[in-house]
Amino acid sequence: MSPKGLPKTDTPSIEALLYEAQKRGILPITSECTARCAFCSNRYNPPSCEVLNIGRRSLDEIKESLPWLQGAPGAIVIGESVTRINEGEPLCHPDFLKIVRLVREAYPGRAIKVTTNGMLLTPEVVSFLSEAGVTLTVSLNSVSKREIIMGDRDPEKTLASIASLKGKVEFDGSIVALPFLTGRLDIRQSVRFLKESGATTVRLLLPGFSARHPLYKTMPKDTWEEVRAMATELSARERIPVLADPPALNGLDARVEFVLPNSPAARAGIRPGDLVVKVSGKDVFSRKDAFQKAYEMENPVLTVLREGLIEYRLPKKRSSSPGFVMYDDLDPREYLSWERVSGVAKGRDVLVLTSKPAKKLIETALERRGLEARIVAVRSYFFGGNICVAGLLTVRDFLAAYRRAVQSRSEPSLVTLPARAFDPWGRDLEGVHYRVFSQETGVPVILAG
Ligand code: SF4
Repeated sequence: MSPKGLPKTDTPSIEALLYEAQKRGILPITSECTARCAFCSNRYNPPSCEVLNIGRRSLDEIKESLPWLQGAPGAIVIGESVTRINEGEPLCHPDFLKIVRLVREAYPGRAIKVTTNGMLLTPEVVSFLSEAGVTLTVSLNSVSKREIIMGDRDPEKTLASIASLKGKVEFDGSIVALPFLTGRLDIRQSVRFLKESGATTVRLLLPGFSARHPLYKTMPKDTWEEVRAMATELSARERIPVLADPPALNGLDARVEFVLPNSPAARAGIRPGDLVVKVSGKDVFSRKDAFQKAYEMENPVLTVLREGLIEYRLPKKRSSSPGFVMYDDLDPREYLSWERVSGVAKGRDVLVLTSKPAKKLIETALERRGLEARIVAVRSYFFGGNICVAGLLTVRDFLAAYRRAVQSRSEPSLVTLPARAFDPWGRDLEGVHYRVFSQETGVPVILAG
């Protein structure tokens, strides 16, 4: 039984978890890490949180599992945590180059993306990645305080290695933004450094801490607002897309945040702030819908609202980037499938329990479709702190939110929970199956998204 008395389902084996990760295009290779980041959550999870270290996988084991990556469309990703597997720094693996070579040989046409903290980038690794056509996400975090906040023993060397990527390896930068620790100036300088090193985009990650994390108490309450404002300001000032993650989205308007230089969007005349209302004559439902349509089509025609409606034809191939940057929001296919399965369109009384960032998006989608449902933003009691993303909510959090929601209103006929809070076996981060929600409340439940 879990600490609050909810029955747990058996933990799947590491092999099953690895299989699931690879089916999604993610190749876990090691849980070891060279850094010791002040903001790392790994040491401050609640004791009953099921997160697993895989140690270091052998080359043979990785080789045998490569066919599993066939199933997922899109890029093969190395260095990202998934399905409760803690991924560390991939370059720590002594066979990292051999692994990338094997992946490249097995999948010559696929994009390969590696996430790294940059400490082990050497001229040899950089030229290898360049030849293999690998793209990177570089977790810079700080340009002047890496030693303090990441435990980087030789930050100057790391910075020189990151700067050497320019013109050789395509990469995006990321910064866990901690203005209360590093100062705002460091964040500004870090964004500028990434731009000068050739980064395509920069992500300012808003710090999320569980109640057990020492930085949770230190962090001023308005940090997220501060960082989001910095992202907007730095994007305009440095002329590079600086995206806050998660963003504060008040609806589904497909607004262009940034236009990449020398891209189809730039050549066509699209500008930041343009509102995309149609792609090749088809109405757009959300940012994600607008981007996906423009990505998939050859020479799409964008109808944008900018002091009136204007049409732009983007000269581009099928399934390639249109060159404008938008925040990610609601997937129209997932939303419409939920609408069908939930019966909300037939007037069924549905209660949607979701994350705080998703609440406004779902409300807007329902409004646009002329439908009604109760939407409740769920607070994390399991992690506590300022954790709010859907993937970290648990059955016990959903039950607490449900009980509050039905105190003053009648019971709904169906409850929807976010699918990303559960693994492929339907278990949350404590190992509690989502069906337990129905057993406790007596109300049918479905997963959405
Ligand atoms: S690089 Fe990532 S895994 Fe390693 S300590 Fe930092 S946050 Fe944790």
